[in-house]
Amino acid sequence: MIQFIDLHTHSTASDGTDSPAQLVAKAAALKLAAVALTDHDSVDGLDEAEAASLERGIEFIRGCELSAEDAWGEVHLLGLWLPRNIQSLSAELATIRTKRGLRNRIIVEKLCALGAPITYEAVLAEAGGEVIGRPHIAQALMRAGHVGSVQEAFARFLRSGSPAYEPKQTISAREGIERMRALGATVALAHPMLLRSPRDQLETRIAALRGYGLDALEAYHSEHSPAGERFCVDMAHRFDMGLCGGSDYHGSTKPSVVLGRGRGGLRVGTAVLDALKARRQASGLPV
Ligand code: AMP
Ligand code: ZN
Ligand code: FE
Ligand code: FE
Repeated sequence: MIQFIDLHTHSTASDGTDSPAQLVAKAAALKLAAVALTDHDSVDGLDEAEAASLERGIEFIRGCELSAEDAWGEVHLLGLWLPRNIQSLSAELATIRTKRGLRNRIIVEKLCALGAPITYEAVLAEAGGEVIGRPHIAQALMRAGHVGSVQEAFARFLRSGSPAYEPKQTISAREGIERMRALGATVALAHPMLLRSPRDQLETRIAALRGYGLDALEAYHSEHSPAGERFCVDMAHRFDMGLCGGSDYHGSTKPSVVLGRGRGGLRVGTAVLDALKARRQASGLPV
């Protein structure tokens, strides 16, 4: 029997709506063979999720989705198999959260100027952990009656190019990759096709990240088309990298993305996990 996995999920430790334990319980109920928790810029949910995984008998991979920037803009780096002690990464995470806070306040100021006033306290009240982001701002806009849905909040105000958007300031991709690799994590570029770079530029970006030590590409993702998926697989072969995949599940703020299933057809088999583990073992890393 083919079994499935999900290596990209978010909990209330960042901008998901399930607690870490709830998320793992759902993954177990769906009979997934393994799940990774990869909250944005946070490892705060990992202990709770791991404890739940031991109770439910599902393999758990400690992860994180780090916001970083390369020469062209924001990139998301998935660190998988993070160890428990991550002191050298914690300082980076704290820096990123501080920068997120400054950015969020600018977005709130822009919203006030645009006639959709909310307070920063109202945004904080939407969050379950220390990582605050645009989904929480979207929820606050909805609660204040300025929009009817999170989607509308993004479309009218928050998505890149819309009037309240503010780019993220964060750490360099090189530093992010090096920090996570120094801890023994496998580092993957999350959803490469969402970088919205033309193919030749995307190849240049991937080559640069590979030069910093990038281990894998997230070829399988809810927002990837079959052609995008094939492009990632080709790139991984070209640059001798591994492949990973996951739904990018967020819970009820993104109801169309289902845990382990993505938007409909996404299915990541255990062969993907086995191949990642084989690469780690070849480098003497624990799995
Ligand atoms: P931030 O880290 O603050 O830039 O927020 C990014 C997060 O916003 C993503 O991880 C998604 O969870 C969410 N997001 C981005 N675009 C949309 C959208 N169009 N609709 C709903 N959620 C979105
Ligand atoms: Zn998110
Ligand atoms: Fe992401
Ligand atoms: Fe994500």
